Amino acid sequence: MSLPLWQTLPVRWVLLDRDGVINHDSSEYVRSADQWRPIDGSIEAMARLYAAGCKLAVVTNQSGIGRNYYGRSELFAMHRKMATLLARQGAQVEAVLFCPHLADADCDCRKPAAGMLHRVMNCFGFSADQAVLVGDAERDLAAAAEVDINGVRVGDAGDYPTLAEWVDRLLGITQ
Ligand SMILES: [Mg+2]
Ligand SMILES: [Zn+2]
Repeated sequence: MSLPLWQTLPVRWVLLDRDGVINHDSSEYVRSADQWRPIDGSIEAMARLYAAGCKLAVVTNQSGIGRNYYGRSELFAMHRKMATLLARQGAQVEAVLFCPHLADADCDCRKPAAGMLHRVMNCFGFSADQAVLVGDAERDLAAAAEVDINGVRVGDAGDYPTLAEWVDRLLGITQ
């Protein structure tokens, strides 16, 4: 009998930035479900984490809403697409937190502020040492550092491991 993997993994919660981590980012902003395209292997990697006993939550800056490039209904359609793809792999995210504000709104949620991280920890009752945050930008890691969550840098441009490569490493599938 094997132990559930979460008993051996230090990480219980994996907090994921969205654009550039799960799906391809765009300098023009991702504005619709059609434009929301997963990075190769990212959905499967999230499903592997989920199967290993990790809980998943997405924490994403979406100032495109504040800029009126797209609305909440388009954003929710993107997240339904993500949820559908995850469900096909038997996985789910527990929550998607998003900041719709512009950078000059001075809100507490836009990363590098840590408001979304506080909220998800309070909502689900886990501590910083049980979590890791995966992001592709300095502001993701800065938000994580603000609440003492370990941050991992990934990317799809070859400078950093992809989400899939990092998950393989975490789960000991490859070195
Ligand atoms: Mg990003
Ligand atoms: Zn905000």
